[in-house]
Amino acid sequence: MGEDYKKIPVIGKLTKAEETAWVNQKRLPFAKAGLTIGMADIDDAEDRLERFAPFIMKCFPETRGNGGMIESALVRIPKMQKCLEEMYGTDIPGKLLLKEDSHLAVAGSIKARGGIYEVLKHTEELALSAGLISTADDYAKLAEPKCREFFSQYTIQVGSTGNLGLSIGIASAAVGYRVIVHMSADARQWKKDMLRSHGVTVIEYASDYSAAVKEGRRLSDEDPKSYFVDDENSVNLFMGYAVAAKRLKNQLDKQNIPVDAAHPLFVYIPCGVGGAPGGVTFGLKEIWGDNVHCFFVEPVQAPAMLLGMATGLHNGISVQDIGLTGQTHADGLAVGRPSGFVGKVMEPLLSGEFTLSDRKLYDYMRALLSTEEIFIEPSACAAFEGPAKLLAYEETKAYIKQNGLEGAMENSAHIAWATGGSLVPEEIRQEYKNTRLD
Ligand SMILES: *Cc1c(COP(=O)(O)O)cnc(C)c1O
Repeated sequence: MGEDYKKIPVIGKLTKAEETAWVNQKRLPFAKAGLTIGMADIDDAEDRLERFAPFIMKCFPETRGNGGMIESALVRIPKMQKCLEEMYGTDIPGKLLLKEDSHLAVAGSIKARGGIYEVLKHTEELALSAGLISTADDYAKLAEPKCREFFSQYTIQVGSTGNLGLSIGIASAAVGYRVIVHMSADARQWKKDMLRSHGVTVIEYASDYSAAVKEGRRLSDEDPKSYFVDDENSVNLFMGYAVAAKRLKNQLDKQNIPVDAAHPLFVYIPCGVGGAPGGVTFGLKEIWGDNVHCFFVEPVQAPAMLLGMATGLHNGISVQDIGLTGQTHADGLAVGRPSGFVGKVMEPLLSGEFTLSDRKLYDYMRALLSTEEIFIEPSACAAFEGPAKLLAYEETKAYIKQNGLEGAMENSAHIAWATGGSLVPEEIRQEYKNTRLD
């Protein structure tokens, strides 16, 4: 790896762990993005989830009201919008909304999308090849004892900072698999405890996320009956996340919120290894093309995706290479090296990124709780840095101007993507509420 990347202006800011905004200069008009994946792939994932809906309803009765569809609400948060404006003395034009993946059924985080989808896809493959079902069958059949017994010969493994492990662990245990979750040092204790209560084997590592993934992958590869959910490279996870976009379109339509050139949509998503925000962004761009503007948000000590994209080195560089620790209170975002697959797909699509200090995670958390009475976990709160700072940085102000959006800002919609929170136990919520960092 050469040292030329050190000359890129944003790298200096990242190295100093300064909060910053970065605009992606490699973004292209959507028509010229030249992607090798597209809407047909998202439709395929959506169809598969539909086939599994009867099974999901059976295993997770809380999804019955929604016909076995695991989906979250999209809500207006005008009081939070005002609060952010006051906190920063800035203006957030248009309307601010919250996408409550924090409250998704089963896993209580955005990982309920990709994680559960990948487990189900693997389950369908095994069941079809064993002749247990055909795609025309009612998949509720897969919850019968003879199927569970069949699945119990197989193991699912995954490396995680916490939430992916929860999602894969809970979903896999419901199907009947043996499950092993490889947890990095950043994972919170309650997440490990919860998994163990579902009968999941949790292996703890003193090292970071990349090391936990590497060891999990190695152990899984040794066992022919084990399947590894590879967060760093998985197209399945990515497509499971991308389905969110089609569902969001229905929600915006129902709420009469248009998205077009005169009504731009801005979306801010907390980013770890990149799969979840990348998959959602891919889906959103497929639907709205140039009229949706997607920004990721990462902690100042773990801006893995920003570093990979700004240098063009993707998974060939880690935050430790520029002297950062990779450690953050945002456990879901504690990733030092990004997914190379996701970074490359994001190159023509992503508008940019923001980084923020850990202290703000708790400030935003308290603000949302006191204004809207909604609790989301600290990692998810990173999303608010986007709307709060869009018009504060020169970089993003220039983005608005260069894209001819100035006149449309009053009609814009801004979605902070709340990526997790509903499973956080009460005593931990109290602890978060009282956490104040310098
Ligand atoms: C996993 C996670 C993210 C980011 O997803 P990646 O796929 O790792 O980029 C964001 N917020 C929360 C709460 C998460 O658990």
